[in-house]
Amino acid sequence: MTCIVLAVLVLIMPSFTARVVLAGLLLAIATWSILASAGSKTATASSDDSDQSHAPENLPVNSLLEATLSGMREGLLVVNKDMRVLASNPAARKLFNPSVPALKTQRLTELTRNPAIYSAFLDGLKGIERSGVKVETHGPERQIFDLRVVPIGSVNGNGAEGALGVFFDITRTERLEHVRQEFLSNVSHELRTPLTAIIAFVETLENGALEDQESCQRFLSIIRKNASRMHSLIDDILELTAIEGGNVQLRAEPVDLHALVQDVCSSLAAKASAQNVTLKNNVAGSVMVHADARRLEQMLTNLIDNGIKFSRDNGMVVVSHEDGTRDKIQVQDNGDGIPSQHLERLFERFYRVDRARSRDIGGTGLGLAIVKHLALLHGGEVTVTSELGKGSTFTIHLPK
Ligand code: ADP
Repeated sequence: MTCIVLAVLVLIMPSFTARVVLAGLLLAIATWSILASAGSKTATASSDDSDQSHAPENLPVNSLLEATLSGMREGLLVVNKDMRVLASNPAARKLFNPSVPALKTQRLTELTRNPAIYSAFLDGLKGIERSGVKVETHGPERQIFDLRVVPIGSVNGNGAEGALGVFFDITRTERLEHVRQEFLSNVSHELRTPLTAIIAFVETLENGALEDQESCQRFLSIIRKNASRMHSLIDDILELTAIEGGNVQLRAEPVDLHALVQDVCSSLAAKASAQNVTLKNNVAGSVMVHADARRLEQMLTNLIDNGIKFSRDNGMVVVSHEDGTRDKIQVQDNGDGIPSQHLERLFERFYRVDRARSRDIGGTGLGLAIVKHLALLHGGEVTVTSELGKGSTFTIHLPK
């Protein structure tokens, strides 16, 4: 019973350290039970066990332990003084050698050549507890574990009788941490560039350029451009964080697509004509799609805006609709196109084909990531096809 309680606690404990400690405790009990009951004598809950129901409290202790250890996600491994496996669970087998039915009596060195694992178990046998040992495996998929090893049995001058290790899979946590760090470093970098320009031009003005009317105007307009870049960047970061954090609620309703596209084209008309780009709404008047109107407008604004930004002189951006199992809204341009090697990563945050050009034309590198997340939020997706020299087509797929 103690084991069940411990196992359940291990699985539900929110704190990682507490889980590892409990998992260790659980395996200690399991190991000692295995060591002590060499003849596989089972402690039973009552003398007439055979007549009892198969309720967990009536199962033999060994069965309970086996079920508990099998069900655990953490890999558990016990070695004896000679560094041979004494006990393990299926999670550990999967970790070290999925092809064998069980890990039995193998030497630790036969299972792994990882020096971090070996040295942690060696310390365990010396009577030293090790925790927070980061272990990486490079099998078909890269996994990262936090290993804790504790000595077991009597610890005397000669060390311990054995050592018990708990492998806690932290691959996902580590991946998230990596993404977070990368995001922070991108944000800092993106903010630093316009900020440096602003400071430099303010200093130039302070150092006398204020007297020169013409330079003064030019510098102020550079300062304004960089300040609005920072503003857009912060807006996009907040927006993306809210969408990704699940803080954006969609209000999906039937939307008149032709009218919505018309609105977006009107709001971008000045920008388009400044770049000699024609916007064309090819959506039929009768088309209704099921979406959050404001969010769909935001997605189309980002895509049409990109079509304008990355178009050639006298270019054209056409919006059309295709019916099918899902509604497909296409934004097509006849700009430069995107080299195929970039297509896969295009919707990642801050991913840009030409960083300098994107910055120069006021891009944040977050527009497509926002479109992607909004499409996902609708239960749909966004895809892209592109041909160099001919242009690109971005398609929003929306469920009916
Ligand atoms: P940005 O703010 O740079 O436009 P986006 O996330 O909207 O950021 O787009 C990311 C990158 O994808 C752009 O920098 C550009 O390299 C490429 N891109 C997006 N739309 C187009 C397009 N219509 N034609 C060519 N390249 C595009």
